[in-house]
Amino acid sequence: KKLGIAFAGLGGYATHQLAPAIAETEHLRIAGVITGTASKGEQWRRKYDLPAGSVYSYETLDRVADNPEIDIVYVVTPPGTHRDLVVRAAKAGKHVICEKPMATNVADCDAMIAACREAGKQLGIGYRLHYEPHHQMLDRLAADPQFGPFRKMQGGFGFRMPGGRPWRLNKQLAGGGPLPDVGIYVIQAARRGAGGVWPVAVTAKEHPKTRPEVFTEVEETITWTMEFPGGATAEGWSSYNDQRNDFRAENADGRNWLEIGPAYTYGGLEGRTSRGAMDVRNINQQAAQLEDFARCVLENRETPVGGEMGRRDIAVIEAIYASAAAGGKRVEVPGL
Ligand code: NAD
Repeated sequence: KKLGIAFAGLGGYATHQLAPAIAETEHLRIAGVITGTASKGEQWRRKYDLPAGSVYSYETLDRVADNPEIDIVYVVTPPGTHRDLVVRAAKAGKHVICEKPMATNVADCDAMIAACREAGKQLGIGYRLHYEPHHQMLDRLAADPQFGPFRKMQGGFGFRMPGGRPWRLNKQLAGGGPLPDVGIYVIQAARRGAGGVWPVAVTAKEHPKTRPEVFTEVEETITWTMEFPGGATAEGWSSYNDQRNDFRAENADGRNWLEIGPAYTYGGLEGRTSRGAMDVRNINQQAAQLEDFARCVLENRETPVGGEMGRRDIAVIEAIYASAAAGGKRVEVPGL
């Protein structure tokens, strides 16, 4: 059986990555769209041969409740809008996938988790790298007593953001600058390198802005340190000024190490370890993520990339901002 999925938000990621990936899945088909732009809805309806009545607006989203062809709503809008759309999709009786970052604050994550739990529906977060083979090797080597555990890690993800007024520079819509948008990938990689646990404390520093006229609301570049239970540490960097796309982890004496770079893009990942080149292939990450969510729904199994994981990352991001605002003071990350 193929489950029907409806995308809410027909922007770049939904159009160019997620929708094409559906064709690479076994158990999903596009069954509707929710969009603020009627003409885009019409384009999608034609392109994907959607039945009449399966194009919704943000105002009529709640009516997906009456459409049995839609099993899952995938929210692909700016983070500041995620809470409202996820809660309403759950109340309409649908499973929900929500893009990263889950929301702009922990309180919104709590509301989203509660709404899906009350509806008895799954909530998945768009963590495509969970399914990526280089990152899965990171998991395995971190857990391998002959190789790990990793004690020192570092990673950076950034690109040069053009000017203009994209939502990524709007604090209310984005929740911050590069940290929640791309730095979140470094948090995830470090969490995996630490053996799947979250940092207990962070320190952070926002760097002086080189283009203050562009970054009026959010940071341009931020660096942070994460302390993990057991003593591993990770240095993170994220920026909208410069390009970086890497991750490195090493064990206590530095003899066993792993590097991935490019580390976080949709494809073209490459990795090496102290044992040699990583012999793993690149896959369609979005298709793998989507297919697993569909199987979780069909098999009534909890998704491994759920709301609690999304919420934890937002708690780390809040702590990083709190530390930067307090001049780099050590800030503990509250547990669940
Ligand atoms: P985008 O700007 O290309 O598209 C965003 C869409 O949301 C647009 O169609 C826009 O019209 C719509 N929208 C709905 N409500 C809006 C509002 N109030 N303000 C502005 N736009 C609104 O952005 P994108 O790159 O597609 O990102 C969308 C989401 O997907 C974000 O959460 C982003 O972090 C995430 N994303 C994830 C990945 C990934 O690799 N997992 C990659 C890119 C984006």
